Amino acid sequence: MQVLLADEYGFCFGVERAVEMVEQALDEGATVRTLGPLIHNTQEIKRLEAEGVATINAPADVAPGETAVIRAHGVTPEVQRELEGRAERVIDATCPFVTKVQKLAERAAAQGRDVVVVGNPDHPEMIGVRGYAPQHAHVVRDASEVASLPPLHAPLVVSQTTLKLSTFLEAADAVRLKADSEPQIVNTICSATRDRQDAARALAGHVDAFYIIGGKHSSNSIKLLSVCREQCAQSFLIETPDEINAEDLRGARRVGVTAGASTPNWLIEQTLARLREIGAEEQA
Ligand code: SF4
Repeated sequence: MQVLLADEYGFCFGVERAVEMVEQALDEGATVRTLGPLIHNTQEIKRLEAEGVATINAPADVAPGETAVIRAHGVTPEVQRELEGRAERVIDATCPFVTKVQKLAERAAAQGRDVVVVGNPDHPEMIGVRGYAPQHAHVVRDASEVASLPPLHAPLVVSQTTLKLSTFLEAADAVRLKADSEPQIVNTICSATRDRQDAARALAGHVDAFYIIGGKHSSNSIKLLSVCREQCAQSFLIETPDEINAEDLRGARRVGVTAGASTPNWLIEQTLARLREIGAEEQA
């Protein structure tokens, strides 16, 4: 039985960077508090907790002398200021792709323009971005919600980094009908999610079973599972290698492996080790 890894899998750039920043602070002896869970992976959060990292729910929970971490989704400028006023030190692990959206929104708002952000208004990334253009930002889920917006002045249109491209383009088209001039449309979608899905899709037709390592509630891992199931019925979303049932691999000649954008490498390594125990060989 051969194990084939998808071409793209596991931590995206922003998540890896955030975890590395936390590790570095721990090495320097800091008492680290993250505002919200650092990443959407229970096992990695538990590992960080064992190293002394605690999750807090509000800036008010930071005690003097502690280091506060802003996670990859980013926060509003108000929240950042509040953290800076309380913490000994603030580590800003906002993903640079998210920072770009924040800066674009801030600049357009400073010019008195409307800002249409296409995404989920309840998502922390969107709450953060809206905070950079408070009087000017309109967060819409899709084109249908653009219809209820007021007339828009010289609008900038940007997207949540994990949005589907077609949703963004349809919404941007709808903005044209509401705008007093040609909108500035900047596609700020990050390719990390799509790259993982494309790589899983490319592999799924060539394997007899597929393991997707990721949180059961992680939306990008659930999406990876459905992409794999389109071509490989024996696709399983697992959080840990213990969930692999050797019976499911009976008769399988090739096994695919991928992992969501919040799945740490050590969990992927443990999964590969478990598959080797069952009799798999990794293919380079
Ligand atoms: Fe950054 Fe993209 Fe990862 Fe989000 S998915 S943290 S934007 S690299």
